[in-house]
Amino acid sequence: MSKHADPLALTETPVAGHPGAAVFDGDHLVSSNPVTGAEVGRVPLADAGEVAAAVERAREAGRWWADLGFAERRRRLLRWRARITRELSGIAELMRAETGKPVDQGVVEAVGAVSTLDWAARHARRVLRRRRAGRVLVALEAASRVEYQPYGVVGVIGPWNYPVLVPMSSIAYALAAGNAVVYKPSEYTPVVGQWLVDTFAEVVGEHPVLQAVHGGGEVGSALCHAGVDKLSFTGSTATARKVMAACAQSLTPVTIEAGGKDAMIVDSDADLDKAADSGAWGALTNSGQSCVGIERVYAVDSVYDEFVSRLVAKVQQLRTDHTEHSDLGPITMPAQVEVIRRHIDDALARGARALVGGASAVQPPFVHPTVLVDVPPDALIMREETFGPVLTISRVADADEALRLANGSAYGLGGAVFGRKRAVGIARRLRSGMASVNHPLGFAGVPSVPWSGVGSSGIGRVRGDDGLREFSQTKSVVVRQARPVVPWSTFERTGKDIERLITFARIFYGRSPR
Ligand code: NDP
Repeated sequence: MSKHADPLALTETPVAGHPGAAVFDGDHLVSSNPVTGAEVGRVPLADAGEVAAAVERAREAGRWWADLGFAERRRRLLRWRARITRELSGIAELMRAETGKPVDQGVVEAVGAVSTLDWAARHARRVLRRRRAGRVLVALEAASRVEYQPYGVVGVIGPWNYPVLVPMSSIAYALAAGNAVVYKPSEYTPVVGQWLVDTFAEVVGEHPVLQAVHGGGEVGSALCHAGVDKLSFTGSTATARKVMAACAQSLTPVTIEAGGKDAMIVDSDADLDKAADSGAWGALTNSGQSCVGIERVYAVDSVYDEFVSRLVAKVQQLRTDHTEHSDLGPITMPAQVEVIRRHIDDALARGARALVGGASAVQPPFVHPTVLVDVPPDALIMREETFGPVLTISRVADADEALRLANGSAYGLGGAVFGRKRAVGIARRLRSGMASVNHPLGFAGVPSVPWSGVGSSGIGRVRGDDGLREFSQTKSVVVRQARPVVPWSTFERTGKDIERLITFARIFYGRSPR
């Protein structure tokens, strides 16, 4: 439990050290605001033994939770959803305290999280209930069923950028599928993480079905080694590699939601106002600290100049500060500011031009919006995840060139296309797990579709039907109901049986289609 009796009641006491940096104070992790340094809360630090004990408790709790069945789990999860919904402003304030994100941004995120929870709770039975599988010709005697059984204990490791929505995209689906969850929040957002766990305990108080373990990367690593039956990781690609390597030791299945370098394509028949507004929002919302943030825009030559001027006009109006309703807040993780600075400086040194912002935009803990053009393709900012409020815009001859450049990235998370006639076709050809058409990050608001990346952006999926199955073990049960037409699975079969099997096979499978 958090040391704050009511974590939504915030203090103004500053924490020693760099504002926003995680501070380890004895056996507690102290969380602070990235601008003021005010303490947000403190949570107990876990060690490897405590992580293992949490997993052990979860195993027992998971059995109880699985036995509740779909209907009762749905009822509890919907009560949790209602509990969070009653506190939307409070949790948005708490997110602002811990990450610096503007309150309105936090509300949008929290609504996305309750919608995600609602969808998982309502659809688990439809997707995961036992179902019949069809009979096959050479085994007509067999009636077959497929079941989706919970794994048992799922470990969830989450990032700080969307500390409610992102973990919910794993936690809700894992719980709806009948698993217990041990959750390791980022060390930058432990209080928000603990709030989620505490509110869940209000509706499921009997057993520790959802627990949090707090600390730095070593606690995440301990969770990978603690005997969980499945691990869902969301974070950077570099950490994802460590998580996979740790889980490989025990062949623990993993879901990886990692970094991105998403592209947006503006085709010649795009609605330029909509594209400019969406490009600005898709790149700069949450101060660009979005895995699916638009980091590269490719605009077709015939509309490039007009698109750039409309986008620049919109970006110039945005306000960056730590007031409640600002457009952009600070950079949450102090070390990320240096990554953003390096990317901007490198691009400018290679001949890029800043139409908004630039080197002077970096004023820790803030980075003001920056729009860069004429950026060479080998610049760091075109290849590595920047994770800040910086957008590059490149001129391309046509949609084919845009696609070639957009797809030339190791990452492949989301992407967006603006246009009319060809837009859906272009979106389908983007090398990514998700794509939005005439909508910035549209998939983020739709929990009924799977969330996933390709290449360095991830493995497996959360959300949607596939996301529910991701947290279930598929089990096939085949029941013999009659004597087999051809007895193939016994040592008592005869030579004649084999001859009949060959005849059957020839009749059913021997003909080539024309
Ligand atoms: P990190 O990879 O730094 O951390 C993610 C989580 O892993 C944190 O809880 C972290 O703990 C923990 N961790 C660190 N080291 C280890 C380890 N060795 N073993 C296990 N766990 C470990 O990512 P950030 O928190 O900085 O998040 C930003 C990244 O997340 C970006 O790359 C972003 O694109 C990506 N992301 C991807 C999303 C997607 O859906 N694809 C969604 C949101 C973000 P601690 O914080 O204490 O170090």
